[in-house]
Amino acid sequence: MPIQICNACGTSYPDTPAPPSGCLICEDERQFVPRDGQVWTTPAKLAGGHVNAWRRLETDLFEIHTHPGFGIGQRALLLRTPRGNILWDCIALLDDATEMLVRALGGLQAIAISHPHYYTCMQDWARAFGCAVHPADADWVMRPDPAIRQWDGETLEISAGVTLLRLGGHFPGGTVLHWADGADGRGAILSGDIVQVAADLDRVSFLWSYPNMMPLAAATVLRIAATLSPWRFDRIYGAFPGRQVMAGGAGAVQRSAKRYIELSGGTQR
Ligand SMILES: [Zn+2]
Ligand SMILES: [Zn+2]
Repeated sequence: MPIQICNACGTSYPDTPAPPSGCLICEDERQFVPRDGQVWTTPAKLAGGHVNAWRRLETDLFEIHTHPGFGIGQRALLLRTPRGNILWDCIALLDDATEMLVRALGGLQAIAISHPHYYTCMQDWARAFGCAVHPADADWVMRPDPAIRQWDGETLEISAGVTLLRLGGHFPGGTVLHWADGADGRGAILSGDIVQVAADLDRVSFLWSYPNMMPLAAATVLRIAATLSPWRFDRIYGAFPGRQVMAGGAGAVQRSAKRYIELSGGTQR
């Protein structure tokens, strides 16, 4: 039996004779159940109507994005290092072409994901490339799998110069990936929805729910900015195609956090 994939968010559920009665990710207040109800698909059906497009963002960084848009519409990023490739965030579609292209680039050493909205089919990607996947919010994993290595703590270096930073906020385990060699050695963070690159590409924001426009507390945003302040980075690659801060990323985080806190009425330190 095929696994079941939620059409609205891309989360995969175990292979059962009938689709689940609901999608826990969509039913959570940070997402939404479509007005016409929950619709389910399978990997074969998804691959029948969609393809993955690739874009090279810088020397060792590729974007993989599904067309036409599927689920939340995020991109996955494939990061090349001398010690192996890392997949950052995940997408539901892993078709034959994508599998072959990733293999041709050397396969994957590890998968890391910013938060549960992008867990999607991480189990299938991990199995295909024989690597571990590192989610930080175990409660939101809908398909248990031996490849899953849940992690705790504030940081996790998954490869030399590639470090996961737990920032929280949007989810308790909300994570960004710090890539020391990114941006020609000036450093980059891959940030998912945890540090959301805004429409003005010199700004970022931090929300509890993006579709339902629910904010985080000012104190949380202050803590996120303080946690990022010791890390050196120039670029920020956000969750969606085109959403990247190409220079001055660390300053953009601090400036955006300061303005967020001002607009929310400030906070006691
Ligand atoms: Zn869903
Ligand atoms: Zn999200």
